[in-house]
Amino acid sequence: MRKKIVAGNWKMNTNYDSGLELAREINEKVAKANLKGTGIILGVPFILVADVVKNVDKDNIGVAAQNSAAWEKGAYTGEISADMVKSTGAGYVILGHSERRKYFKETESILKEKTELALASNLEVIFCCGEVLEERNDNKHFEIIKRQISDSLFHLSAGEFSNIIIAYEPVWAIGTGVTASSDQAQEMHSFIRKLIAEKFGDELAGNTTILYGGSCNPGNARELFSNPDVDGGLIGGASLKADDFIKIIESF
Ligand code: PEP
Repeated sequence: MRKKIVAGNWKMNTNYDSGLELAREINEKVAKANLKGTGIILGVPFILVADVVKNVDKDNIGVAAQNSAAWEKGAYTGEISADMVKSTGAGYVILGHSERRKYFKETESILKEKTELALASNLEVIFCCGEVLEERNDNKHFEIIKRQISDSLFHLSAGEFSNIIIAYEPVWAIGTGVTASSDQAQEMHSFIRKLIAEKFGDELAGNTTILYGGSCNPGNARELFSNPDVDGGLIGGASLKADDFIKIIESF
């Protein structure tokens, strides 16, 4: 049975003090929330990863870095390796977010390297994919998602792939207040699950968590999460407000 997950992506928000305070506030509210088995992950800035790990209840909340390097170690000033992330106690890394693809020119082959290294360090990978508006308007969204997923992930063994969480995040919905409709989300999630089934078989596809991301909020989460192939969300803006984040977690 696949896991339901709500993950927050704080992006480059908060600072050390306000971020730690937010993590503690979420931790307190999560302890009183009706989780119904939903897994929670906080994707926090690098400077906070180690201390958020120490300040949340690990039975309820996992911690993710928002990136890790495409190299194992060495002379790459400013980079953070997957092994460094793992050494903090974090269990996850977000890879392939559209902001990293856009601003840092991360390609499918770079993401293939990053994913391999993250898995080799025993991190679970929240792998983001998503089309831009022009691609959807040109009816190329299925082709784009297929390429992003297959070029970066389909060389993995089934065992390795079982440590991947997919986040479908249409770029036109990220931070825009425009959400994919419930039907659009279900259509793409079911397409992604079919792709995984064709490559790795029905069992692994059925066990893969596929999250929706893009302007998900307390007002639309319940409808989005009610779709059979939508297993939760990757939440940007609304994950920075503890009350909104908890409401989204309680939307199953
Ligand atoms: C994201 O950046 O992963 C995201 C989903 O952002 P938002 O919820 O703000 O659209």
